Amino acid sequence: MKKIAVGILGATGTVGQKLITLLADHPWFTVEEVVASEKSAGKPYGSVVAWRETQEIPKKIKQLEIKKVFDSLASKLLFSSLDATVAAAVESHYVERGHIVISNAQSHRLHSQVPLVIPEVNGTHLQLLHGERSRGFIITNPNCVVMVLALALYPLFKNFGLEKVMVHTMQAVSGAGYPGVASMDILGNVIPHIDGEEEKISREILKLFGTYCDRKIDFAAIKVSALCNRVPVFHGHTLNVAFTTVEKIDSEALVAAWKNFKGLDLPSSPSNIIRYFDDCHRPQPRLDVNFGNGMGITIGNLRPCSILDWKCTILGHNTVRGAAGAAVLNAEHLVANGLHT
Ligand code: NAP
Repeated sequence: MKKIAVGILGATGTVGQKLITLLADHPWFTVEEVVASEKSAGKPYGSVVAWRETQEIPKKIKQLEIKKVFDSLASKLLFSSLDATVAAAVESHYVERGHIVISNAQSHRLHSQVPLVIPEVNGTHLQLLHGERSRGFIITNPNCVVMVLALALYPLFKNFGLEKVMVHTMQAVSGAGYPGVASMDILGNVIPHIDGEEEKISREILKLFGTYCDRKIDFAAIKVSALCNRVPVFHGHTLNVAFTTVEKIDSEALVAAWKNFKGLDLPSSPSNIIRYFDDCHRPQPRLDVNFGNGMGITIGNLRPCSILDWKCTILGHNTVRGAAGAAVLNAEHLVANGLHT
């Protein structure tokens, strides 16, 4: 298969760099264009990027001249990891010019005609694109906490139904981009607020678990409440979650639903999406964040809850599964469904 040329909007940022590493040897895609703000434009990528990945910058990318947003682009398929302040206008601009934008940004996630997709959960929501194939369109992946939460809860929702979910987050600093939170604010500290995060969590998951009907998504009816914290962890969002299922079941049934949740036949989908630990000291970000090359999630410490039915701990990689890897998987899902041309 001839590789598909792609561009990256916001290529110099935290998620943009992760996209570049994940796409470096991708069997289907090749990065041909990198785009960032005016201050970076016109210069070779390698001379301006504050590179934070452990893997070297691919030689070809190092030499690519950065374009600025709104420049004309040759690649039909664009990944967007733009700052939220500019993503809405820039992504709409490229869609109007016939591009397909696969976005990490929040701007269009809840738009009624934009698919918000995790292929293993609601890949069929691509039906929203019905009739749009001759024009450009946007497909989005969820917020990084929602991604981790949705992968853990979907097997339970599908098998037993969910009534209520309460989630307390411990979110890594890389989730705030670069340079992100000042070191003097976060070192040895916990910040008990992340702007807009609680609202995103309680809305996006309902769209993901919603049902396609008559060219729109009917949101799922689950009560979700979130409390968000930034903690001094580099990568990996840890969630303490309590939930009530519709059907009353035992812990063996819950664990079996997680263990039976399998990946798709796509290059970035892990065969086992969830690893469950019997050890009550796991998961931990330092030990477990890279499970499934960062595309899997880990769960442990399932026990009865005296307020809701159950409680447990969930962990996932925020810049891989929660952002760049999610976008790459969505692009693979589009190609597998023949929607990229
Ligand atoms: P980041 O490190 O701050 O990177 C932002 C990118 O946007 C950079 O390439 C930057 O280019 C570009 N940019 C900023 N202002 C711009 C402007 N005025 N015009 C054009 N380009 C501009 O942020 P990030 O963490 O990678 O996040 C990127 C997006 O992904 C955000 O929408 C974020 O909400 C979302 N997201 C992030 C994560 C995560 O874990 N970090 C997870 C899920 C979703 P310059 O270098 O030239 O300034």
